[in-house]
Amino acid sequence: MNHAQLTALGRALRLLGEHGEALTGDTPDARLHEVKADLRRALDLLEESVTTAAPSTRCTEHPTGPVDESAPDLCLLCETRRRAARRAEFNGPAAPGPPTESAPSRYGVRGDRPQPQQRWLPELWNGQEWQLCGTPRRDRREAELYLAAQRRGSRPAMAYRLVHEFTDYEVLRVWGTPVRIDIEPMGNL
Ligand SMILES: [Zn+2]
Repeated sequence: MNHAQLTALGRALRLLGEHGEALTGDTPDARLHEVKADLRRALDLLEESVTTAAPSTRCTEHPTGPVDESAPDLCLLCETRRRAARRAEFNGPAAPGPPTESAPSRYGVRGDRPQPQQRWLPELWNGQEWQLCGTPRRDRREAELYLAAQRRGSRPAMAYRLVHEFTDYEVLRVWGTPVRIDIEPMGNL
């Protein structure tokens, strides 16, 4: 808006204000037609002064960007960025391994469940069956040393054994074709 436009627009708007002040129930139709003409003139002046499109969002960075009705500032681009930040916060800092993005599910994803692990269980023969005789160990050598100490004890059992426990997940069969898709409509902007 240049200075001439500013002056003209200001004058036109102030004139409309005066019309408003003077308005009563007795205002004749001729006067109302005058008001109508002045309103049109003010509107024309406004349209000449405004050169950019009306903002579609309340975001100062992307005023005419795509709209997300659910976002507080209506800005889809910023809301996408905020959602990604919230998700990163939820998933914890710098989660190792592949991206943990997934469709929302109350069952979680494979990575949320325990990692494959192995343990060594010291067991003794109690006369009827094998039973656990100590804390399961993460380390095989440690479990063997423990059993050796048990055998040298004052009243050792008839027999001992070391059991290797290994838990893992094995995919048995896959139905369909898993293709990675973007969750966010404009996630790479
Ligand atoms: Zn924005």
